[in-house]
Amino acid sequence: MSERAISLPVKCLSCHEELSTPIVCDGCHTLYPVPQSADFFDLLSIGRTFHLDEGLLARAYRSIARQIHPDRFGGDSIEAGNLSTRLSAQVNQAFATLRDPVKRAAYILEIAGGPSAAEVREVPGALLGEVMMLREEIEQAQAKGDDAAIARHRGAIAKRRDETLEEIAGRADGLWEASDEDKKGFRVLLNSIKYFDNLLTELAVNPLAANQDH
Ligand SMILES: [Zn+2]
Repeated sequence: MSERAISLPVKCLSCHEELSTPIVCDGCHTLYPVPQSADFFDLLSIGRTFHLDEGLLARAYRSIARQIHPDRFGGDSIEAGNLSTRLSAQVNQAFATLRDPVKRAAYILEIAGGPSAAEVREVPGALLGEVMMLREEIEQAQAKGDDAAIARHRGAIAKRRDETLEEIAGRADGLWEASDEDKKGFRVLLNSIKYFDNLLTELAVNPLAANQDH
């Protein structure tokens, strides 16, 4: 858990009811702009951890999205309508980020002060050679129309991706206390996911498959 000092609003300025999310009051439906100190976890009122309950996250999202929906504020002032539209976009982005384990891990790294993919482009040392070899094998299998080999590669790559994600999951909640070196290592690990995803995409779109019936 983060030890960040946060100063989120705790009470509604209109009705003084306690706020369960920093952007909307359950009681009087007053909207508030996203406080600067709030992150996506705060927006969705969910604990700041990689290992979140996905069902809880989805329920929190649906509840907040409903409360701030622009349809509810259409008849109000232009300011309220605009704020509702802006908040909805932010809440949608928060949900899209937190529901996806890879995006969630990258986001935790970001708010823990770790490097972005643009700042650290490295991947684990052995990965490039491994990917190059796999790509050759895949091209050969695709050229031969060897569906069994293609399926085997798909399974093996998906497994490597899962294993990498497991390692990411095991380290993500330690990022708050991690050294810069460890944060960089986490970024390197995260970068490898897109190599597996690219390979899986290549396997999904076999350029020769369409011609096989001819
Ligand atoms: Zn209120």
